[in-house]
Amino acid sequence: MTSAQPLSVTPYAEALGRYEPAIGLETHVELGTRTKLFCGCPAQFGGEPNTHVCPVCLGLPGSLPVPSRAAIEYTIRIGLALNCSIAGWCRFARKNYFYPDMPKDFQISQYDEPLCTDGWLDVTVDEGDGEPAHVRAGIERVHLEEDTGKSLHVGGATGRIHGADYSLVDYNRAGIPLVEIVTKPITGTGAAAPAVARAYVAELREVIRSLSVSDVRMEEGSLRADVNTSLAPRGSAVLGTRTETKNVNSLRSVERAIRSEIERQAAVLDAGGAVALETRHFHEDTGITTAGRSKEEAEDYRYFPEPDLVPLAPAREWVEQIRRSLPELPSVRRERLQAEWNLSGADLSALRNADAIDLVAATAEAGASPADARKWWLGELSRRAHETGTELAALPITPAQVARVAELIASGALSDRLAREVIDGVLAGEGGPDQVVTARGLAVVSDDSALTAAVEQAIAANPEVADRIRGGKTAAAGVLVGAVMKATRGQADAARVRELIVQRLG
Ligand SMILES: [Zn+2]
Repeated sequence: MTSAQPLSVTPYAEALGRYEPAIGLETHVELGTRTKLFCGCPAQFGGEPNTHVCPVCLGLPGSLPVPSRAAIEYTIRIGLALNCSIAGWCRFARKNYFYPDMPKDFQISQYDEPLCTDGWLDVTVDEGDGEPAHVRAGIERVHLEEDTGKSLHVGGATGRIHGADYSLVDYNRAGIPLVEIVTKPITGTGAAAPAVARAYVAELREVIRSLSVSDVRMEEGSLRADVNTSLAPRGSAVLGTRTETKNVNSLRSVERAIRSEIERQAAVLDAGGAVALETRHFHEDTGITTAGRSKEEAEDYRYFPEPDLVPLAPAREWVEQIRRSLPELPSVRRERLQAEWNLSGADLSALRNADAIDLVAATAEAGASPADARKWWLGELSRRAHETGTELAALPITPAQVARVAELIASGALSDRLAREVIDGVLAGEGGPDQVVTARGLAVVSDDSALTAAVEQAIAANPEVADRIRGGKTAAAGVLVGAVMKATRGQADAARVRELIVQRLG
């Protein structure tokens, strides 16, 4: 069933004038456990189709699931990091529906007894127009379930089932542990709702990455977000009917999908219509959503407690042990680094936006000053990453190598210009900084005998400048230093050159 599509949308600012948006996020995270949730098959991304399978994850008769302790531990880690209560006793539930990539025709999930409940995640929204806003997103539940397989539709233009000649099924993903994190409705954020949703997913991704339980790559689908959007007339105490936009696979798309839903729903309501409870698909190319299926209600799935598994009752001591082992969380770490590195809020935002905090921290740990580390990662290296369309962290240079370049500059062995050439060499795969310096002959020349000839030449070529220096105007030495630097293609030690000039003419 699809809803009637309005021909136009209500402009965003106008929509926000009449309606208050509520958003909700359901985020699925594929856990990075060694094995699948209920069998010993490898829980790896990719692989030859249907090679990571066994009777359990294929749902063959007579096979029985055995839960992975690591997957339960990882879920508890996430729950604790999100300030949730951990259930002393809960159960898995069987969710019944047919889908060709789900071999058992049911999914083992959790329903009314999730492992983690009632937490929160604080997010900071920085739209670059004044003080960042702080929003606390309530977490309703964090539960554990198995992932489905994957269908591949062949022959159609879009890769969707519609228009395809045939479909193939790959069960490698079936049974990989999946954690679902559901927020409570987030209200009262007004026009910032799309930015809040984006900030939430970004923060959640950082938290989960810090816990080392998943690689949380949106582009590979190990983090997938569904976004719920509803509108209510301003001043209304009741939430409007929500739509659920599926599998929005980048941070930018989270923001765009909600914005477009707000404009679309406002137009439906403005025309006197009712928003249909349905799933929708976000289209990256057009930035709009289109109707999918009408939304199932929980009772459609005929949940019941999974009869093949005993209840789950994590020991309190175990939960407390996991709590004690939690790392410093990203928000706490950011505050600490901001103070240690003496950064303004804008400086910190710049580092976050460039995804450079870990890189700068690792470079500082390797011996560079935080200021130097920031300078290289946000300056020269960001520019190179941008030029080649790679992520900063994917550049073929390590924080230790950047620290070594900074050290060579500090010791006077390299100028900034030579350092950029060294970085060229490292990025081109010519080895570490010291190897590149040797191979390309890039060291600063500070040996007097080598520099004196160049100094003499510069003086001979600029007799008037030399006279001014002789007359006491030592500031004019800059001209001669520049001439020497040019003659030595930037490799001379500028400070030493200046000393030699003043000595010679002083
Ligand atoms: Zn298996």
